[in-house]
Amino acid sequence: MDKKVLRNLSYGVYVVTSKDKGRNIGCVANSIMQVTSNPSVIALSINHDNYTNKIIKETNIFGVSILKETADANIIGTFGFKSSKDTDKFNNIDFKEILGIPVLKDTCGYMICKVIDTMETSTHTIFLGQVIESGDYTNENAMTYKYYHEYLKGSSPKNAPTYEEKSIISADKDNKTKKWKCSICGYIYEGDELPDDFVCPICGVGKEKFELITEE
Ligand code: FE
Repeated sequence: MDKKVLRNLSYGVYVVTSKDKGRNIGCVANSIMQVTSNPSVIALSINHDNYTNKIIKETNIFGVSILKETADANIIGTFGFKSSKDTDKFNNIDFKEILGIPVLKDTCGYMICKVIDTMETSTHTIFLGQVIESGDYTNENAMTYKYYHEYLKGSSPKNAPTYEEKSIISADKDNKTKKWKCSICGYIYEGDELPDDFVCPICGVGKEKFELITEE
């Protein structure tokens, strides 16, 4: 079996949100697809270890914000690589509430879904959500997972369905340029040395969190 073939599947980049007893929570998801048109139902896959999974099960409602290609990297860093359990992810984020669920403003649009069914896999819950409210903000390009990997050089958080152990994306194995990997989000910087004031464009940490990649 060649698992690399799975990289050819297409995904978007979304922020899935919910409300935990008055507290806004959420995380990044890439595995969302529309499964029926009438009624409009989508499927969403979220890791069991994700705090957002637990809250969606308790409340049976979630929001999906569809990120733009030009999304602030801080959104992915905050929602993709930290836990809502101990972080207020909405602290520096522009959002509004629809049916009591927070959705991000600077995006392509949002959907609010009520859970109509779930299925458990060994690591993830598949939620079927019927869209009960939605808004379309813009005709800007939505961010695809491929774009996130190739242009933003982002990686999959450990809980993503598409996570691969040692998932360092490199087009050229003979490339002798040094590569530095962010130990928090997996962002790859290419260059001999990181500038002293370097800040990870995905998760915002400084150069001390970067490690030299010696071998792939
Ligand atoms: Fe980072």
